[in-house]
Amino acid sequence: MQSIDFHVHLYPPEIIRDAEKISAHEPYFNMLIHNRVHKWATVDDLLLRMERDGVERAVVGGFAFRGMELCRLCNDYIIDCVKKHPDKLEGMCLVPPLARGADAEIFRCAEAGVVGVGELFPEGQGVDLADISQTWRLAGAAHEAHLFILWHTAEPVGHEYAGKGSVGPKEAAAFCMHHPESRVVFAHLGGGLWLYEQMPEMKLCLSNALYDLAALPWLYESRVLAMIEAAGLVGKFLMGTDYPLLGSARYEKALVESGIGPKSVEQINRGNAAALLSSLKSRPARMGK
Ligand SMILES: [Zn+2]
Repeated sequence: MQSIDFHVHLYPPEIIRDAEKISAHEPYFNMLIHNRVHKWATVDDLLLRMERDGVERAVVGGFAFRGMELCRLCNDYIIDCVKKHPDKLEGMCLVPPLARGADAEIFRCAEAGVVGVGELFPEGQGVDLADISQTWRLAGAAHEAHLFILWHTAEPVGHEYAGKGSVGPKEAAAFCMHHPESRVVFAHLGGGLWLYEQMPEMKLCLSNALYDLAALPWLYESRVLAMIEAAGLVGKFLMGTDYPLLGSARYEKALVESGIGPKSVEQINRGNAAALLSSLKSRPARMGK
């Protein structure tokens, strides 16, 4: 199945080499890389996998550190990868959302061609998604630079996993309410936020929200995709594998098992992502020049 993978993590070789040293002062990174499902991937690993799995484009980001210098290292690597493989990759940049200079870093990366900011970790990076006094600067910079924001979100119920956190539908909805101008993607099906689009006032509030499927095979029965189709929300879902944690095979199996129609499969697998990417690129970044 041809697809666009909207949720991929790549690690600069220096980060892989110095992972233990970095872990000492990055507690969230320390927890995730010492989890049994953790895997590393560089751009070469990804390109091989894209070839194998029929992934035509991938939207790639690094790891959302607390430290600005580490985010910047990831951003430089992502920018370089995208420059070398413009036909295959789109980039996301990372910032610690509350750090001094976060907006300047977003503008620097936007000028270098990235299309989004993420995947940001509300708990790992110590930012409250529901507090407008903490999010306005980030949301403003991303909007000004014409970038989407990808937030990690999770279900407020169910099994624990490393990095799950307790930021979910409620906080994500508050972000949408505070920043209707933002283009925002909530990872991991928004922790179930999409369900509330069946409430008329929430449909309006969430009109700028998109969702990715990252980690779906670990979280849900495949039939959740049929429920999304029945809810009329296929147009808001993006394929995102969370590679290198997972490849395409288990998502393809879920899509087939769900019984959703071929048009829905195509939209989720690539159509929605292709439309979003072309809309992001069709308007020039509005960076106060
Ligand atoms: Zn995540």
